[in-house]
Formats: sequence, structure tokens, C-alpha cells
Amino acid sequence: MGKLLNELSSQGSFAYAVNSDVEIDVQIPENFKRTSKLNLPSIAESDLLRHFTNLSRKNYALSTGFYPLGSCTMKYNPLINERISKFNNFVALHPYQYQGTIQGVLEVMYELEKDLCEISGMDYFSLQQSAGAQGEFAGLLIIAKYFKSINQKRTKIVVPDSAHGTNPASATFAGFEIIPLKSESDGSILPKKLKEVLTYEVAAIMLTVPNTLGTFEKNIPEISKIAHENGSLLYYDGANLNAIMGVIRPGDIGFDVMHVNLHKTFSTPHGGGGPGSGPIGVKAFLEPFMPLPRVEKSKSKFTLNYNKPKSIGKLKAFLGNFPVILKAYVYIKALGAKGLRNVSEHAVLNANYMLAKLKNKFDVPGGSRCMHEFVVAPKSVLKNNIRTLDVAKRLLDYGFHAPTIYFPLIVDEAIMIEPTETESKETLDAFIDAFVRIILKEAEQEPQKLKEAPINTPIGRLNDVEAARSPVLKWK
Ligand SMILES: *Cc1c(COP(=O)(O)O)cnc(C)c1O
Repeated sequence: MGKLLNELSSQGSFAYAVNSDVEIDVQIPENFKRTSKLNLPSIAESDLLRHFTNLSRKNYALSTGFYPLGSCTMKYNPLINERISKFNNFVALHPYQYQGTIQGVLEVMYELEKDLCEISGMDYFSLQQSAGAQGEFAGLLIIAKYFKSINQKRTKIVVPDSAHGTNPASATFAGFEIIPLKSESDGSILPKKLKEVLTYEVAAIMLTVPNTLGTFEKNIPEISKIAHENGSLLYYDGANLNAIMGVIRPGDIGFDVMHVNLHKTFSTPHGGGGPGSGPIGVKAFLEPFMPLPRVEKSKSKFTLNYNKPKSIGKLKAFLGNFPVILKAYVYIKALGAKGLRNVSEHAVLNANYMLAKLKNKFDVPGGSRCMHEFVVAPKSVLKNNIRTLDVAKRLLDYGFHAPTIYFPLIVDEAIMIEPTETESKETLDAFIDAFVRIILKEAEQEPQKLKEAPINTPIGRLNDVEAARSPVLKWK
């Protein structure tokens, strides 16, 4: 391997194939050529293979176990979608290629925008943004630009405390001031309380639906009426779309702007700061303000339109995170309308199954029914100073990834569980057994074990605070 690379690099000129039928000859100028041989380590192929295989076995992944991470939709995603996103014809594209040579790519984007409109009830979508939070940011810039265009000075955004944490952050980043709104015990919003904080300076109200307690906002028609009568817009945080597909459409119930997370609902796993995509959808009156470029179709030709004078401009290099877009496209086309509804129905069913098994043993602040996820507040039953963090660490010993903990912030010692539609009843039952055993039995009888957990993992309990304050960023 090392020898081959040495030879290639010392030749100065070599051809590599981008596509099976296109060859590019690269001439390396003399002054850039290396004068000494590359000092690559020499290692047996079998040792290298074992090294990486053993490293991967130390990791925890969806391919090894259950990942009930609330607010993140860590579900099984068909491997064939990953494979399709790695097709050479897509991977080898150059970002500056002429539009005439990427018609297939533009068609995928155009079609996906249309499908997301159909799923959400919005009129237009843009796929540029590389995360849910960036979608929120784009949506808020659009809202700001819209009010500027009609000469209204609106500088504030109402954000309930049951919204996702990125909402107030994105609104602040987009230049707005936040008006916090206290939610009820199940995370819902009382229209009366909304009226109290609403002024003519409010540009929009941002709702996370289902909210961070896993419940569907029951007062949307009234909230929408109050907001629009005040001249404010309604924003839907749709990162939790896994709960509602084929059942309800935000565009039909009064929302003007929304984002969805392709990484979560549509076949890209979420987490680890990996590649994401947070498309935004808007109602027609906001279309002129959408990010550039817009994918357009004339006759059978697809083009990129950069000429939209009212647009908020460009937010991400080139066309967005195309492999994530492609996986979402394949996922939606493969499942179809019925299949997507089936996904949401089973995601909600699985969560309610778990909630039904746990609600008599623990406090469940969201109530006895939930959407795709729910929150457990085990504080009142935890003995011996055991905390939610200890429970989460101990779950690792039983072979489960820990659920989201200490979120939402409005619940003390919160544990947020999202089983998703792709888990079997056996897996859910095994998790419930371990969860109940740890909290009701081990915490009482073996508290020391919980404080020391995890015991069976390749690495024991880390000092998170120390790791964050003095990170070691170098190997050896
Ligand atoms: C995950 C999530 C977000 C943020 O998405 P990122 O891609 O992580 O930026 C926003 N709102 C909700 C409800 C989420 O679950």
C-alpha cells in the first residue's frame, strides 16, 4: 500500500477516474512534488482489519442495540438507502458542474421539495439548511425580511418553555428578542396566557409540536387565531415529524413557516454532530424570501434560480447536504403515503405501550397519553441519593443506550424516552424490565453499584465536566 502511494506520488502525474467513463489527467507542478519518500507505517492487512473491527466493537450503535434517545428519533434506517447515497454517480459529482450535467440531482431535489409540501401542507420547501437549528434560523430570517417588506417593526418572538432549546437560541441569533411563555404542566399553552404576552412587536410564536413533553398542543386553532389577529406569524418546529406523518399537516392548521429534520425522520441517523439537513417550508406569501438557489422546472429541464431579489440569500455551500437529501427521497418514495402514515402510527403506538407500562410506577408529567415520546420523572421514587444520571449509566450495563436525560428543563430529573417505530415488543419489554429494576430495586438495594456504573462497558464512567473543561484532543 505504502509502496504504491510512494510510486504514484513520485511520478508527478497520474490519472484517476471520477466516473467510470471520464478520466482527468492531473499535472503536479515541479515545486510541489515531494523530494523524499513518504514515511507511511507498514502494517499487515490482517492487523489493520482487526484494529478497526475491534474499535467498532467498542462502540454502541443502532446496529448493536436499542437507542431510545428522546427528541432525536434514533431509529433503524434501511441500509439500502445508505448504499444508494454512495452511488458513484452522486458521490463523484463536482460542486461546480454545469446544471445541464446534474439534471438527475436537481430532479431529486425538486421532487423531494414537492413531497415535503405534500406531507406538511406547506406551499414551498427549501433543502439548503444543514441542521434543524439552521432551518429555524432561516425561517426566522424569512419572517424578519417579510415584516421589513411590509414596513412593520416587529422585533420579538414568543417561545414557550416547552419548546426545544434551539428555538430561543435561533431566534436570538436571527436578531430577535425572546418573550418566554410558561406552559402548563403537560407542556401545552393556555391561549389566555399567550394573549397576555402578545404585543404588536411580536413577529412570531414558535411552537414545538409535539412539545418536549411528547404531547400534541391541543389549543392550536385558538393560538393560530390569536397570533394572526395580532398580525404575527406561527412557526412550527417539525423536528418531531415522526409523530404526525399522514395524520395531520401543519400547513392545514394555521402554521406559516416550519422546518423538518431529514436526519431523524427520513432515513439519516441523528446524533454525533454528523451530517444533517433541516429543510424549511413556507406558505406562498413567504416564497420570495426563501434561501437561494431555488430549484425550478421549465418543461422537462431543471434549473437553479439565483435571481430572487427579496431572498434572504445563501446559507450553505452549494446544494446543501445532498446525500442526506437523497436518502430522504428514497425513503419517502419507497414507503409512499400509506407507509409514512404507518411509520407515525407505530412510533406513537410503541411510545404509548411503554408509557402504559411505566405510568403506574413513576410520575409522567405529560399525562397518560403521548405522541412519539414521553418523559418520566423518577425523582419521588429514587432512593439513596441516586440520580437520573446514575440510572442512565446503569442502563448501559444492560446493553441499552441511555435515553435523553435532564431534558426538558421544565421537569426535574427528567428522562425522555423515544422508542420509535422500528423496535419490537420484545426489545421494548426488555428495556422496561431493566428500567424498572434499576430504579425500584437496584437504587434501593445496591446504590453503590449505580454510582459506579457503567461496569460492563469498554470504558467506565467518565468525568464529563473534566472532559469538557480540559479536552484531550491529541492521540498520545
Ligand atoms: C433535534 C431538534 C431540533 C434541532 O435540530 P438539529 O438538527 O439538532 O439542529 C429542533 N427542535 C426539535 C424539537 C428537535 O428535536
